[in-house]
Amino acid sequence: MTEKHGDTGMGRHGENTGAVANTPGDETFPRVSASPRPRVFDPDLRILLWDIDGTLIHSLRRGAFKDYTIPMLEEVFGTAGRLPEMIVSGMTDLQIVGEALKHEGFTQADIFERVDHLRESYMTAMRQATSNGEQFFEVLPGVRETLQAVHEHPRYRSALVTGNIEQAAYLKMELVGLSQYFDLPGAFGDESHNRRDLPGLAYERIRKHLQLDLAREQFIVIGDTPNDIDCAKHFGARSLAVGTGRLYSKDDLLACKPDAMLPDFSDVNKVMQALAGL
Ligand SMILES: [Mg+2]
Repeated sequence: MTEKHGDTGMGRHGENTGAVANTPGDETFPRVSASPRPRVFDPDLRILLWDIDGTLIHSLRRGAFKDYTIPMLEEVFGTAGRLPEMIVSGMTDLQIVGEALKHEGFTQADIFERVDHLRESYMTAMRQATSNGEQFFEVLPGVRETLQAVHEHPRYRSALVTGNIEQAAYLKMELVGLSQYFDLPGAFGDESHNRRDLPGLAYERIRKHLQLDLAREQFIVIGDTPNDIDCAKHFGARSLAVGTGRLYSKDDLLACKPDAMLPDFSDVNKVMQALAGL
């Protein structure tokens, strides 16, 4: 499977391995040449954009998310508004905050104004809720094996595209031991109220990181809610729906017309077959 990179001068996963020019100000790569950045198109590569909740992991207790988000909202805004009775699957964290507080007189601008405080308070509350020695999250069946299989396969690279705020997303992955699988930059729920914005943010970051031209249909959004499928379609990516979320049935997801659908990831061969068709 390495021959696909043979005439491109690219590494196993498509990074530039030879002399490359950098985007000004980007210190991620060594600056070795002032020539224009090579724009190599690698049509075989697929970038997997993974949702977290209901896709990779579950909280062991239903609604456990509110253990840390209610105290966070109370600290930052003085009220948790409607959050205690809300169903939040598929929403970005900023969207959840906006919905919870819109009847309390807080606008989206008010929330953005306090986003740094919100992030800080969110992480303090989350670390507190998840550090009492009890297991808080569980990895869904077959997920670890699937992530390992795509990690070892030269066609795939993985990133997180989730409604979670960035630090919360990486803390969850650390708590369940999956962090090592997401080595590309992603997009997160503290960046927009609208999940539709997230694949485009990840796309730009990943193109820049890999210094590769990538087509939108080389991106595959993997998630458990209609919002995951919708954000893929809005951006022009493919979508793989998985029926492990708590809120939506297989029929709910099929009605959104994902490009592929699996009940779960318990059969790694089936997952790899589904991905091979995308
Ligand atoms: Mg989800």
